[in-house]
Amino acid sequence: MTRLIFLGAPGAGKGTQAQILAESAKIPHISTGDILRAEVKGQTELGLKAKSYMDKGELVPDSLLLDMIRARLSQSDAVGSGWILDGFPRNVSQAEFLDRLLTEIGQNYDLAINLDVPQDRLVERLLNRATIQNRPDDTEDVIRRRLVVYDQQTLPLIDYYRQKGVYREVNGDRELAVVTQDLETLVN
Ligand code: AMP
Repeated sequence: MTRLIFLGAPGAGKGTQAQILAESAKIPHISTGDILRAEVKGQTELGLKAKSYMDKGELVPDSLLLDMIRARLSQSDAVGSGWILDGFPRNVSQAEFLDRLLTEIGQNYDLAINLDVPQDRLVERLLNRATIQNRPDDTEDVIRRRLVVYDQQTLPLIDYYRQKGVYREVNGDRELAVVTQDLETLVN
């Protein structure tokens, strides 16, 4: 059973790498960003509430997310084969919630892996992705806001997981396949 938490700034490539790893390990790739984008697209109540935060590069309030995570991790595929969490947790209170939830449902994670990429490369990558994927939160202003939010709210998770002895770092500023190789080695 593999259960991994993927950390990393916006643009670090964690979505892509998480997807590749999840496919090769045959486990669910659970991306809160993807789930939220689907909710926005479907114009659900949650999607409508989340959209204004996402468009500004802010984090969606925990109150909108926690039930969603609980429900997803309780589904049979996640219970039966593990998961890669991509984009959750994004702040310390989400990390604490996740720990409580996992204790409650009898699960635990193996590692929290951070894909490390220098800040200037992140902006470059995100602007590049903006032209390819046409995400509404990939304009330059919003990109810069997302990076500030990352520094302020998500970066503290490095210490959180380091203290638990599960933190690992991979240099994400290399060719995609080389990064994948390092991740596979770390996980297997
Ligand atoms: P991502 O695709 O992971 O970059 O997420 C896109 C956007 O969705 C973020 O900028 C946030 O607005 C929102 N989002 C995704 N995951 C979370 C989370 N764990 N907590 C709060 N907001 C989130």
